[in-house]
Amino acid sequence: NVQTYSGHQQGIHHRLIDKAALDTVFSLKRAGYEAYLVGGAVRDLMLGIEPKDFDIVTNASPDQVKQVFRHRCQLIGRRFRLAHVRYGRLIIEVATFRGGQDDNHPARQIDDSGRLLRDNVYGTMDEDVWRRDFTINALYYDPKRDVVIDYVDGREDLQAAQIALIGDPWVRYREDPVRMIRAVRFAAKLGFNLAPSAEAPIAELGGLLKEVSNARLFDEVLKLFHSGAAILVFEKLRHYDLFKHLFPLTDAILATENEHFPRQLVIEALQSTDRRIAEDKPVNPAFLFAAMLWEPMMQARQDYLDDGLSPQDALFAAAGDVLHIQCSHTAVPKRFTAQVRDIWNLQFRLHKRFGDRAAALRAHPRFRAAYDFIGIRVAAGETELKDLFDWWTDYQEKDPLEQIRFANQMV
Ligand code: ATP
Ligand code: MG
Repeated sequence: NVQTYSGHQQGIHHRLIDKAALDTVFSLKRAGYEAYLVGGAVRDLMLGIEPKDFDIVTNASPDQVKQVFRHRCQLIGRRFRLAHVRYGRLIIEVATFRGGQDDNHPARQIDDSGRLLRDNVYGTMDEDVWRRDFTINALYYDPKRDVVIDYVDGREDLQAAQIALIGDPWVRYREDPVRMIRAVRFAAKLGFNLAPSAEAPIAELGGLLKEVSNARLFDEVLKLFHSGAAILVFEKLRHYDLFKHLFPLTDAILATENEHFPRQLVIEALQSTDRRIAEDKPVNPAFLFAAMLWEPMMQARQDYLDDGLSPQDALFAAAGDVLHIQCSHTAVPKRFTAQVRDIWNLQFRLHKRFGDRAAALRAHPRFRAAYDFIGIRVAAGETELKDLFDWWTDYQEKDPLEQIRFANQMV
């Protein structure tokens, strides 16, 4: 029951398709292969959104793709082998059709709980489509013939604004529990809802996220919270009780909260992240983790202070504990945990501004993030920090000589 539509009639405009993506498709076709745009790009084009990346599928094997693009092509991935084709700074991902019903195939690996560990069994488009996650992500577009190919009523779900899995949701979530958080991300980003069938298993299967590698979950966390819809993502993750699998310490604090303040800090941080993305400004993963873990860290720090540790030692120990636990869930790379520690340390050091201290703090590579962090603390209700925040705002606007005078007036 495959349906085909004219891309033009579905509102697909070629001006929203990156030249590099078109070129990749056309090069593969010239070499005698089938090639289509697929996944998020087709979904976004049909919604009139400019896709941020382009996924292409072909019947060429990864090695054959490599032969077409030569030195511009790199083969990556073990679990799921792919070709990356480079156009300057842009990378176009080219996958080979997955297929075959045979779960005992040597290139496919499934564990006892039904989890798909590896899938490098190749097939045809009408096999590939059933291995994709959601109906709205399973539309194929041939830009040459201007045809959309829809095996799974993806267009209907686009129109109904709902996220529905292909096949049995219970099986598909067990195969790859990350699909539960992908569902939330797409729902938030597109303003869609999960279909009732996509919602139903989550309460029971959410715990399977524990078995997903912490490195993959770190990547997913960034996609979730740097999607431009972080606030909605957060609300939905909490709603489905999935947030605790990503940020257990933060979740525990939110659950025990009676005043509103810590939740507000997370909200302020996510709002600021969404604003920055909307303005095309860079976002820093360290800022996100610093905000998510601030309250857990401050509680642990208080415990260490009560045990008699010095403020410096208490902060150091608390940061270590909290980051260690977080990393067992989402493997935050070292360079970011170092930045999180800097942002936290500076929360205490930015108070001491007298004389040449101000200039030294201003020169700290993490100054700007730490200053912004004070900003969200103020916005979240720590009004006693407002004077400090305003002081640093003024300081940054002065020329160097004025800055020295300004800092010397501090007592
Ligand atoms: P984005 O806008 O975030 O790029 P996307 O839908 O393109 O969204 P990708 O992660 O780039 O998502 O994946 C491309 C396509 O590959 C998806 O649209 C989907 O068809 C398929 N896919 C990706 N991850 C999975 C998964 N875990 N299980 C099944 N299919 C997947
Ligand atoms: Mg994509």
